[in-house]
Amino acid sequence: MLKEVVYLSVSTQETHMESVFAMLSRVIIKGTLIKKSQQKRRTSPCNYKERFFVLNTQDLTYSEQRPGKKLIQKGCIELSRIKCVEMVCSDLPIPCCNKYPFQVVHDNYYLYIFAPDNDCRQKWVRALKEETKCNELFSKYHPNFWMEGKWKCCYQTEKMATGCQEYSPVGYATKKCLPPTPDTERRLSDTSQRMVIALQDYSPHGNTDLPLQKDQEYILLDSSHPDWWTVQDSRGNTGFVPCIYIAEKSPCNNFNRFEWYIKDITRRRAEELLIKENKEGAFMVRDSRLAGVYTVSVFTKAPGSNVEKNSQVKHYQIRESVTSMFYLAEKYLFSTIPELIQYHQHNAAGLITRLRHPVSLDKESSLNPAEHSEGQWEVDPLELTLGEEVGSGQFGLVLQGQWRGHRVAVKMVREGAMSEEDFKDEARVMTMLSHSKLVQLYGLCTHHSPMCLVFEFMDQGSLSDFLRARRGRLSQDTLLAMCLDVSEAMAYLHSNNFIHRDLAARNCLVSENNEVKVSDFGMTRFVLDDQYTSSQGSKFPFKWSSPEVIKYSKFSSKSDVWAFGVFMWEVYTEGRLPYENQANSEVVEALNAGVRLLKPRLAPEAVHILMEWCWKEKPEQRPSFALLLHELASLSDL
Ligand code: ADP
Repeated sequence: MLKEVVYLSVSTQETHMESVFAMLSRVIIKGTLIKKSQQKRRTSPCNYKERFFVLNTQDLTYSEQRPGKKLIQKGCIELSRIKCVEMVCSDLPIPCCNKYPFQVVHDNYYLYIFAPDNDCRQKWVRALKEETKCNELFSKYHPNFWMEGKWKCCYQTEKMATGCQEYSPVGYATKKCLPPTPDTERRLSDTSQRMVIALQDYSPHGNTDLPLQKDQEYILLDSSHPDWWTVQDSRGNTGFVPCIYIAEKSPCNNFNRFEWYIKDITRRRAEELLIKENKEGAFMVRDSRLAGVYTVSVFTKAPGSNVEKNSQVKHYQIRESVTSMFYLAEKYLFSTIPELIQYHQHNAAGLITRLRHPVSLDKESSLNPAEHSEGQWEVDPLELTLGEEVGSGQFGLVLQGQWRGHRVAVKMVREGAMSEEDFKDEARVMTMLSHSKLVQLYGLCTHHSPMCLVFEFMDQGSLSDFLRARRGRLSQDTLLAMCLDVSEAMAYLHSNNFIHRDLAARNCLVSENNEVKVSDFGMTRFVLDDQYTSSQGSKFPFKWSSPEVIKYSKFSSKSDVWAFGVFMWEVYTEGRLPYENQANSEVVEALNAGVRLLKPRLAPEAVHILMEWCWKEKPEQRPSFALLLHELASLSDL
């Protein structure tokens, strides 16, 4: 414990007694941590802010720190009001870069603070406990978070409900929260077999942890530690892995054979299908944006139903209890999801209506070119009708058109603009890539000159224009949804080992129903314009390029991640140009000096933290899209 006596600056207005008092208070510990908003008002939004915390013998204060500016105190908690200080043990994803939470309960408020590492967290918890041990303390506390109207540990719905675990005013929850390298005897404490999927590669740092390979499945042996879970790989090796690198799969998630399950469908599309069906109790089960989580979407005509305005569709997340049972309504627990659905097909039991009519996708109407067989990407010009011009780009004019009864966008490739033979070789792969958040390439027309590429038509044009045209009118939900849409598409591209190479708001398009889709993936490889493709060229997208791309043209999934950081910045500045008024050379110099784009005014702290993560100098320190998607999804409701 620090013994240093700090002489606080005393304003002339302060009384003599106050100054003496202040001089006697001794700083015990101080440092920068992240705090979650306490949401004192029901309507206040949840956010995560970096604050400079100081614990002295009188109180715990936290202040805003701005480079070159004085600290601005944002809060002060008298130590005598503190009722509990303890670590938070949770396996929920934490939407800020500090992953080690602890709680300070004072008056009727829960303050969640996030430390950068376990050592730091332990120091703070120990110091705070020491200073508050003679207070009137809780006898029991909640070891997990209060979230979405429930305690994640005991599922009580009263925020001030008595805790579910014995609170000790000395020491900390060592039984639940081990330091970063957990002791190996804990490994086999969970007996039931649960499966997890690796969200990204992980290389071990010691001999007790296990390497992870992205998208591989592992058996989960122990998930009781807040950071390190024990898993077993297919060869029987066991070890610790960081839990944020894996997502738990439901034990029985192969639902393809059930008519009520639709795998790859968005919330918006689900609503459209259910509304089109227009039957009371029409429903489907779909993958939630959170990996390993499922959502039941159900349509009702019930008058006065408590659903969103203009929508008669309600979405329920299938939750898992502490005893690994599934439920929609807390009282009705089932060991498998099909059992749960079957029960709710007969009983509303807490739902707005019972699940009456499973709705599935009308596969006939799909235009999915994944059904094309090899070489069938050739579009017959007789089937293609060309209409008016909708834009022009690197390859030439873009026209609106009709193909097999669908509106399409046709890119007419100007002679000499594209390396056509190379593109034809790649076309098969590109037409096979199919995702609801990618602008679909339906095929190409190669027998006529100019060659033309036939794409899904996107009514509202490029995202950069869309953002600029709606400045000041875009809600936080809309901005976040745009980032989520694009991270979904990018996670899909990367899972197919496909690198975009030119991700930016100008290369994303907006559909009729405001969905954002990624376009022009991989297309820069076929551009025959050195000004565009060479990092020395005047059209090279410097401001979206990572340092390794600028220096060595080293494109990778992680250079796409860098560009995604800039993309998020574009979204949250409503379409501003990054590094406006700065020459490319100045940008490169600033990046080398570690300077990054500033936080857009509209970006919540948690989103800014993700941007900065994408702009880590070393590519391997940047997150994968799977992880970004996971983090962004945890910031949205479902
Ligand atoms: P290029 O790939 O030749 O550089 P772009 O993709 O930049 O061309 O397209 C130029 C413009 O054409 C876009 O800004 C947009 O307005 C329009 N456009 C492109 N693709 C589509 C599409 N699929 N649907 C609707 N409009 C499109």
